[in-house]
Amino acid sequence: MDAFQFSRATTVSQAVQSGSGSQTSQQGADVRFVAGGTTLIDLMKLRVERPRIVVDINGLPLDKVEPTPSGGLAVGALVRNADLAQHPTVKQSYTVLSEALLSGASPQLRNMATTGGNLLQRTRCVYFRDTAHACNKREPGTGCSAIDGHNRMLAILGTSAECIATNPSDMNVALTALEATIQIQGVKGPRSVPIHDFFLLPGSTPQRENVLEPGDLITGVTLPPPVPGTRSLYLKLRDRAAYEFALASAAIVIKAPGGRVEYARVALGGVGTRPWRSLEAEKALVGRPASPASFRHAAEMALKDAHPHSENGFKVELAKRCIVRALTTATV
Ligand SMILES: Cc1cc2nc3c(=O)[nH]c(=O)nc-3n(C[C@H](O)[C@H](O)[C@H](O)COP(=O)(O)OP(=O)(O)OC[C@H]3O[C@@H](n4cnc5c(N)ncnc54)[C@H](O)[C@@H]3O)c2cc1C
Ligand code: SF4
Repeated sequence: MDAFQFSRATTVSQAVQSGSGSQTSQQGADVRFVAGGTTLIDLMKLRVERPRIVVDINGLPLDKVEPTPSGGLAVGALVRNADLAQHPTVKQSYTVLSEALLSGASPQLRNMATTGGNLLQRTRCVYFRDTAHACNKREPGTGCSAIDGHNRMLAILGTSAECIATNPSDMNVALTALEATIQIQGVKGPRSVPIHDFFLLPGSTPQRENVLEPGDLITGVTLPPPVPGTRSLYLKLRDRAAYEFALASAAIVIKAPGGRVEYARVALGGVGTRPWRSLEAEKALVGRPASPASFRHAAEMALKDAHPHSENGFKVELAKRCIVRALTTATV
């Protein structure tokens, strides 16, 4: 690990000022906030992240889960994953989020990991984490070792010729199905970004994963009011039953009174370069019977643009079956 300066922010404005100390691009920016540290410190030890300044934000008053005036829920950026998963309102009204959080990492990690940090966790692509290999995300312009290398875990949707890394977060998939909004405080003031617009496709700039600018602090995530009559579910398929990232996962929010689908949100994990909302699957579901044939058709629509690589072709069928199983379970 390289030497770095360490400071603690006690107010949001102080954090933003400290965080904007650098005008460099996001990748290679030399200031980093640290929350739970479960992603950042690992990457600093591997010398993948090499910040000159680390700002501890754990003293900020961003650790509350509160109802919003419109009937939704405001989750502070420092709410721990374990606390959010067990929050009574989340368990009852945003079940998919609780299930997604509990499927991630281990109890010890969930006790440390925060909402803001989970949103911004980096890919688990092995080449990104190993400085001996070329990686466009870590060092733009060096090439992508995964495209012709080990890519079993990597993405089949939203890939580019520059990068095929998956967004590894389970929480982000549930937040996508719930149409969450990210609350940001920057040097120019606060702003809100719907999660669908927050994460960027890799394109020719895989080093840029989201719309944050240097100094931007995530202050929280807002969930809209639960849609009456919906059920939700998170299904995660992985190599072992615990402590493993998704090969494919599905977050479903659905309403099917009398066996006909009235409302559907479908988001996928483990297969996309960003948390993957499938508008195609949703369109294929609404107005149709909640039947095996409709579910399979929706799954086909969700994966119709899949672009597998040498080792991850199996994910196409796996993701389809994940969607069908999740929809079936959520509508029985
Ligand atoms: C062994 C292991 C297994 C795991 N398994 C899973 C899994 O199965 N599923 C899963 O989803 N995750 C998994 N994770 C990842 C884990 O969920 C993340 O490491 C964690 O959520 C990150 O949160 P943190 O608070 O520790 O982030 P940190 O490490 O503190 O920060 C992560 C990044 O976010 C930035 N940041 C943090 N907070 C803010 C903020 N408020 N505003 C702006 N920037 C901020 C930091 O600068 C850093 O770049 C695993 C991690 C490990 C180590
Ligand atoms: S897939 Fe992306 S993160 Fe992995 S080596 Fe290629 S550029 Fe790097």
